Amino acid sequence: MIITIDGPSGTGKSTVAREVAKRLGFTFFDTGAMYRSVAWQILHEGVDPADQKQVEELVSRFIFHIRTNPAGERSYFVGTHDVTKAIRTQQISNVASQVAVYGEVRQALVRIQRKFGQETDAVFEGRDMGTVVFPNADLKIFLTAKAKIRAERRFRELRGKFPDAEMSLDQIQMEIEARDETDSTRKLSPLCQAKDAVLIDTSHLTVEQVIQQIVHLKPKKKWPYASMKPFYFFIYWLARFFFRTCFRLKIYGREHFRPGAGILAANHASLYDPEVVSISCPEEVHFLAKGPLFDIPLLGPMIRRLNSHPVERDASDIKTFRLILQLLGEGKKVIIFPEGQRSPDGALQPLERGIAFLVQKAECRIFPVYVHGTYAAWPINQKWPKFFGKVACVFGTSIDWEEFAGLGKKEMQQAILERTSKALASLQHWYETGAKGSPP
Ligand code: C5P
Repeated sequence: MIITIDGPSGTGKSTVAREVAKRLGFTFFDTGAMYRSVAWQILHEGVDPADQKQVEELVSRFIFHIRTNPAGERSYFVGTHDVTKAIRTQQISNVASQVAVYGEVRQALVRIQRKFGQETDAVFEGRDMGTVVFPNADLKIFLTAKAKIRAERRFRELRGKFPDAEMSLDQIQMEIEARDETDSTRKLSPLCQAKDAVLIDTSHLTVEQVIQQIVHLKPKKKWPYASMKPFYFFIYWLARFFFRTCFRLKIYGREHFRPGAGILAANHASLYDPEVVSISCPEEVHFLAKGPLFDIPLLGPMIRRLNSHPVERDASDIKTFRLILQLLGEGKKVIIFPEGQRSPDGALQPLERGIAFLVQKAECRIFPVYVHGTYAAWPINQKWPKFFGKVACVFGTSIDWEEFAGLGKKEMQQAILERTSKALASLQHWYETGAKGSPP
């Protein structure tokens, strides 16, 4: 679920959004911090913010991470630099506003914001969250307050953070008004209220009153399976019933599941694997199947409606790569068997490089999945499957692409392969040694 909170600076957006997120158990994203981080890199590299070409070149190299410590405090990183405090100066505010009018800067940051938004329930605070970045947000809020009141709030905030800095209230009010003007009159994503946003004037409200209003407006959580297409839903439960009854299917580690794009990287021992992995996921997923299967009457149209996509030879050709990248770009999850072929004896096999290319290109998350028992049920050398046995599907902790950011191309591919391979092996070990607690 996504809640957007937009409005000019000094309306109390950050404080309100952070607290709303905390009370609802959502993740908070301060998108102004991202524009500020670009501004930090501009000043750090000595680039002229008025030179659009140079700023665009810089933003193509921009690597932004958020780290959260065990106490829940967030730190912002540009590459390896912790910029959390440095981005709060008035100079950075002005440069951020100046470069936020450039299309390339906005596109790059919107891409990062949407990626964050696919992954978790979140409160996004900014200028264009409800209008441009998340037009389908579940709840949109627009905060306003009189310019004088906003300047007083900003003055107090800056005084607290930088007690020795020279500043005057009038100067801050002038800068706030100038920034409002730039933000509201720029061509791209100007600051404005989305048609379906709820307007709250915070001039005479306490922070607590604003938070209460927003928390009360939060829509009810949807049933997790509500977004499944009816046909998918029907077959999903039918297949689950079959595997539960005949194979005593057990699913472990669903707590590691996260919404949004990702590769479900599973070991492969049987033609039962795609079915077992898909019905173990709490949402619709996509997978690949050999082209000729789609020509079989009834089966072809049916698997197409179950999000299966035809591949010509194997998953390593260019067309298939493009298809997977497109699905990932649309925020979908795709089942990939990185071992390439079914295991001849049921044991885990070395991984092929394809998955590393995909993760590198799509910058997506990997969900390691260990499937147990399907080899005994339908091994590669058996024409017909068995209809009884014991099958398990184990989801491990997801692997974030950011773990590999900063590595060279070759090193990154190697690291992705090793990390995924190790994850599958440790899930197998966890299952075979008693499956206690949550899978690693
Ligand atoms: O909210 P904050 O004051 O930290 O934002 C700094 C600047 O970043 C804003 O003045 C605005 O120009 C830009 N910004 C934006 N779109 C957002 C968030 C911030 O253009 N979603």
